[in-house]
Amino acid sequence: MKALLLKEKGKLAILDMAFEEKLGPDDVLIKMHTIGICGSDVHYYTHGKIGNFIVKEPMVLGHEASGTIIEVGKNVKSLKAGDRICMEPGVPDLHSRATMEGMYNLDPDVVFWATPPIHGCLRETVVHPAMFCFKLPDNVSYAEGALIEPLSVGLQAVKKANVKPGDVALVTGCGTIGLLAGLAALAGGCSKVIITDVIQPKLDLASSYGMIPVNIKKQDLMDVVKKETGGWGVDIIFEASGNEAAITGIFQPLCPGGKVVFIGMPVNPVPVDIVAAQAKEARLETVFRYANVYLRALSLLGSGKINVKPLIIDRYKFADAIKAFDYAANPQPRSVKIVIEM
Ligand code: ZN
Repeated sequence: MKALLLKEKGKLAILDMAFEEKLGPDDVLIKMHTIGICGSDVHYYTHGKIGNFIVKEPMVLGHEASGTIIEVGKNVKSLKAGDRICMEPGVPDLHSRATMEGMYNLDPDVVFWATPPIHGCLRETVVHPAMFCFKLPDNVSYAEGALIEPLSVGLQAVKKANVKPGDVALVTGCGTIGLLAGLAALAGGCSKVIITDVIQPKLDLASSYGMIPVNIKKQDLMDVVKKETGGWGVDIIFEASGNEAAITGIFQPLCPGGKVVFIGMPVNPVPVDIVAAQAKEARLETVFRYANVYLRALSLLGSGKINVKPLIIDRYKFADAIKAFDYAANPQPRSVKIVIEM
């Protein structure tokens, strides 16, 4: 079958490849439909690694995916051929301690698409365990289905933040994950979401969702936070930029007793001002991917509580997948999510 292979850093090819995959009794065979390009895919393409995850041998990219079931294994009752689904890309050892504790995303043996050395799903078909496949509501498109993966990161962050009705949140970073965290925060009960960036078209998009945009090149964030919170500070900060400057000053806009959720991954270790955190008894949370949120993310899309359609700005055909990655490595400022259709 055709697949998009990252041969080495900077070298992509669309090739005919054979995969040693057998449909087990609990698996489904899926015809891929739409795959979103994630920042991590682009990073493997341009840098050949993310932290300790290093591309040492050729790897198929892609993990944000939707498709149609072609065939189901003999034990599969919940899904059937023809079902439109999205897939959770990480499959843990179901008997591991982490899985038993409800944190299967943290299983050291998790097998996650397009994380070296595991092949991703930018290919014609894929075999996947049925329990990590989720039926799309009729009113949710394949492209929206592919966005369930990054939306789940946002939902995981909101879950970790324990949002209370009326909370005021600040999201630092207005990329795909920042926007989706902001949408999840609003859906989860936040009364206001302030969001920062330096790229105006992304902030304009956030503004169209009712978020309060702050272009930190032109505006003082603290002025906005003081105005919006009566001088108290925000209840929750979702750090979604991974930017060193943003992280270094992260506790300043926080209210006493507030919470910071670290989502963005800085390229290098970043110093954190512990005393600034202690002076507010700040609570710190981190997220790594997600666990047990796909169904909730799908319910939020299906009910219309979250609308991701405006985020899907650039679409490419699979034959142009390399072009799509070159664009993703150097996108227009207005670009948010780039998807590839098979
Ligand atoms: Zn992703």
